[in-house]
Amino acid sequence: MLQDAYGRFFEYLRLSITEVCNFSCTYCLPDGYRKTVGPGFLRIDEITRLARAFADLGTWKIRITGGEPSVRKDFTQIIEALANTPGVRRLATTTNGYRLYQNAQKWRDAGLQAINVSVDSFQPDVFHRVTGHDRLDEVKAGIEACLNADYDAVKINAVLLKGINDQDLDLFLDYVKNRPVSMRFIELMRTGDNVDYFDRYHVPASVVSNALEQQGWVRKTREQGAGPAVEYIHADYAGSIGLIAPYSKDFCKSCNRLRVSALGKLHLCLFTELGMDLRPFLQADDQQEELKLFLGKSLQSKAVSHFLDEGVTGGNHRFADIGG
Ligand code: SAM
Ligand code: SF4
Repeated sequence: MLQDAYGRFFEYLRLSITEVCNFSCTYCLPDGYRKTVGPGFLRIDEITRLARAFADLGTWKIRITGGEPSVRKDFTQIIEALANTPGVRRLATTTNGYRLYQNAQKWRDAGLQAINVSVDSFQPDVFHRVTGHDRLDEVKAGIEACLNADYDAVKINAVLLKGINDQDLDLFLDYVKNRPVSMRFIELMRTGDNVDYFDRYHVPASVVSNALEQQGWVRKTREQGAGPAVEYIHADYAGSIGLIAPYSKDFCKSCNRLRVSALGKLHLCLFTELGMDLRPFLQADDQQEELKLFLGKSLQSKAVSHFLDEGVTGGNHRFADIGG
């Protein structure tokens, strides 16, 4: 089992498969993705070996992320390979919803069980301004396609942005009124590249939790293996609300996730270090024991907290590199 020096178990892997993205969200890739020279992203055989080792060590939930994971031509094959890894019981992805409408059923059939779709605004012009793309209708059609394809969980991610979407709670709530969707608000996080942006647009998630409590929403108890969101439910709504508040006092206490970047680096935390190279251990099937030993040993250096409140951004320049 993967356990750190503070007694936390790690059963959840966030695996980035590409740094490439076709959107240019203002808080993540404001100038769009720029190709750099260097090694390619993890190949499917490397991904398969990685997942096998993690699953042997007790990881049962994997989220495929990026960049935009669906820009990879072999995305469906990656889903299949991960879904067929013994021990993996929950396979999820996070996507900007680009071409989701066309692919929702295909990915579900390949073994994807849960999906998070990023929608920072339900106002088409605001969506356009934040992502650089006038595609809100397409993305919404993609979410409906996921609901029709019978995913176990459909969630929507919105990064809370002061003066951009923080006054639109009613629009977000309307969307989940009759849909069994979890709407999650993520506090904007400071990265190496967005320091000025952060100062201008960061707004605490307590703005939303206070408003929800006033409207009769009730906090739900945390489920095993759940992500970092605090969940709220309401008897009049088919959907639920989740708040992800990384600057809150106890955020790191329930940490149960590790990250591997598209370049095969293990990140013990989204923020605190530069990543440890796993690729040398991913080149042949007979390296599994070596890889598992390395993972177990590396985990012992995981820090107790991300120290974000002290202004630390570590090696994380932007989320598109490591995956959110
Ligand atoms: N491209 C996909 C997408 O946007 O859903 C997956 C990768 S994206 C990096 C994963 C999540 O991280 C998205 O919901 C995005 O909004 C969020 N994100 C990116 N940069 C962020 C930041 N600085 N603070 C908080 N969330 C961020
Ligand atoms: Fe792309 Fe996702 Fe970053 Fe937006 S948040 S630029 S969609 S990787």
